[in-house]
Amino acid sequence: MRVINFNAGPAGLPLPPLERAQKEFLEFGKSGMSIMEHSHRGKDYDAVHNEAISLLRELLDVPETHDVLFMQGGAHLQFSLIPLNFLMPGKSADYLTTGHWSKVALSEAKALSAMVGTAREAVTTEHDGVFTRIPKQDELELDSNAAYAHYTTNNTIFGTQWHTIPEVGNVPLIADMSSDFIWKKFDVSKYALAYAGAQKNIGPSGVVVAIARKDFVESGRTDLSKTLKYSTVAKNNSLFNTPPTFSIYMVRNILAWVKEIGGLDAIHARNLKKGELLYGAIDAMSDFYKSPVEKDSRSYMNVVFRLPSQALEEKFVAEAKAANMVGLKGHRAVGGIRASVYNAVSVENIQSLVDFMEKFKKANG
Ligand SMILES: *Cc1c(COP(=O)(O)O)cnc(C)c1O
Repeated sequence: MRVINFNAGPAGLPLPPLERAQKEFLEFGKSGMSIMEHSHRGKDYDAVHNEAISLLRELLDVPETHDVLFMQGGAHLQFSLIPLNFLMPGKSADYLTTGHWSKVALSEAKALSAMVGTAREAVTTEHDGVFTRIPKQDELELDSNAAYAHYTTNNTIFGTQWHTIPEVGNVPLIADMSSDFIWKKFDVSKYALAYAGAQKNIGPSGVVVAIARKDFVESGRTDLSKTLKYSTVAKNNSLFNTPPTFSIYMVRNILAWVKEIGGLDAIHARNLKKGELLYGAIDAMSDFYKSPVEKDSRSYMNVVFRLPSQALEEKFVAEAKAANMVGLKGHRAVGGIRASVYNAVSVENIQSLVDFMEKFKKANG
């Protein structure tokens, strides 16, 4: 029996793409082998690879100015590749700090300071070791000469999410969208580079999806090894070396499912409904469940809340598990409860969680 999966990442995947993979697992089409046994230079894999790219282009209306890239090394390697490629010595880049992962992005850029320019914090909303809000535009101390501005659209651990795109003028905007990529449509043209580790919202681990503006990629540093340059990935349609073929195949299955259920407008509507239900329940029972996050900064992907005591939180997690709902323990840096409710989590799944929360409060409140 499959559980209701609230894991933060790797996270639950929608059932139809998994069933499709199961059906095609031993023999892909009439090829006599699994897709992962195919050459990445053959026509069978090539069709899957290009279908994944064209589905994403279609779902997001990716303009001709931008390329869709598949990369490896997780979001973590992006934290290094971005300064290596785009932060020339003598220049400075702005980092907007709103949570754990944006802090890591900044510290990884700083670690390269002998090779690249200066990574500078343009804002932080950290207080007492935690983050509970997204900054306002007028709090950003932006440098109009910055090589780029980097931010994290959704803060997976702290449960906050940007609901506007920061205004950075003519400075190239870069976003880590790992935990809310394709939770809805977004204006790709605003970004020089948007990237996401697949394992939160679009697939299994092993692949990063990046959408990069061609002229920005071309502006990158050239005195790097080929493997470290975005331009190499772009020039070779993400086939410079062996890509994670099975992960990309799963991304293809998931994007095909997104299209089938009505595309990103339908996904967005589902996600809004889920957020309304879950935050609605938290607010309606605020004498028992408390959201530490400021209302206008609430995440629709990672919903964080507290109970009156740690003992009750442990009981909540254990009883939820017995009721077939897993992955609700908050990150160790924050404690409490975290329900990661990515695209694979349905409205019905959220209703089950809300029903459980009501019962739990009645029994323990
Ligand atoms: C999970 C996560 C990361 C880390 O991803 P890896 O693929 O493990 O490197 C980075 N940024 C955000 C926003 C995340 O949610």
